[in-house]
Amino acid sequence: GSTIGILGGGQLGRMMALAGSNLGYRFVALDPAPDAPCGQVSAQITAAYDDREAARELAKRADVITYEFENVDAGVAAMLMEESYVPQGSELLYTTQHRLREKRAIEASGVRVAPYAEIRSEQELREAVAKLGIPSVLKTATGGYDGKGQWVIRSEAEIGQAYAELSRSGVELVLEQFIRFDKELSVIAARSPQGEIQTFPVAENIHVDNILHLSIVPARVAERVQEEARQLAMRIAEGLNVVGLIAVEMFLTSGGELFVNELAPRPHNSGHYTMEACRTSQFEQHVRAVCNLPLGGTELLTPVVMVNVLGEHVEPLLARMAVADDAAKRLGVEPKIHLYGKSEAITKRKMGHVNVLAPDVDAALAWIAETTIWRV
Ligand code: ATP
Ligand code: MG
Ligand code: MG
Repeated sequence: GSTIGILGGGQLGRMMALAGSNLGYRFVALDPAPDAPCGQVSAQITAAYDDREAARELAKRADVITYEFENVDAGVAAMLMEESYVPQGSELLYTTQHRLREKRAIEASGVRVAPYAEIRSEQELREAVAKLGIPSVLKTATGGYDGKGQWVIRSEAEIGQAYAELSRSGVELVLEQFIRFDKELSVIAARSPQGEIQTFPVAENIHVDNILHLSIVPARVAERVQEEARQLAMRIAEGLNVVGLIAVEMFLTSGGELFVNELAPRPHNSGHYTMEACRTSQFEQHVRAVCNLPLGGTELLTPVVMVNVLGEHVEPLLARMAVADDAAKRLGVEPKIHLYGKSEAITKRKMGHVNVLAPDVDAALAWIAETTIWRV
């Protein structure tokens, strides 16, 4: 069988390797942590992500190279392209690493993003706030995740401070209009090197402190909105010449309009529900796409709610197993627990997730509330 090299050895790599093993592939992950989640189930090269020597070693040991995070060093990506097969290419990384480039690419595919402006000085920020209105959201163009590198400007008096704070990092900034969304949705699309595209069902996402808490599927929105969300993800997958997965995060307004927030060219937390709830999981689909196999079916087999297990949830989850099981039987739901093998349960750290399979999403939500594991 062939070997797939993964840049990054976190939980996304781990679940990719577990799914790909069933198709006969071997895996080797590059990660600086000696006990990384992926390395526990695959081979591992332990080194910094931008270590050229280690990347060369990865290229030597793998027939195909993919990644599980998008901030791969451009030089390393270029080198890997020379020395191995990187079906996703480097263009997709280059685009999605930078919010401005990403927004331009989304617009070029004919899809709407929230109105935005490039910010190169405090003066430009003042002008842009005047134009886009208050509140608006100042973001670093690169490197942000879980809401880090963002500032919601709620009054003119905050402009100076917001600029000083975010410009300190030295990276480019972008201001976005604040979208008063009704719901946050996401769609994951997969595209093969020949251009075959499949989209997964729309997820309705609920964040707590800017970290994903729940993905609810089917999303509680009109059929027409779901259809449009999947169409828009397909247009982006085509427009950006995606190979592998692309996760599309979007806002739905009360007027029924969809605006894309951001993209991720990899498996996405909001797609973990696919592991038991869809005919094919997002991880298997990614492996199929980068290995040029026919894509799998994406039908939803059952309603599901995915709930994240953060560091602070691990103890209550283990302590209330029996209570949770009683509640599950009473409500007719089946909670499927996934843990990533991380030893330190640090607050806010993603340790695992539970896919609550249920006759309907209300039953799954009732189970989550009744267990009191997640107090939000
Ligand atoms: P992730 O962990 O998903 O990569 P991130 O740090 O890249 O997060 P975003 O997804 O851009 O950040 O924003 C985080 C959250 O902040 C969004 O899910 C949304 O709830 C809110 N948000 C971001 N931009 C806007 C906006 N323009 N209008 C309203 N809310 C926004
Ligand atoms: Mg992001
Ligand atoms: Mg996001």
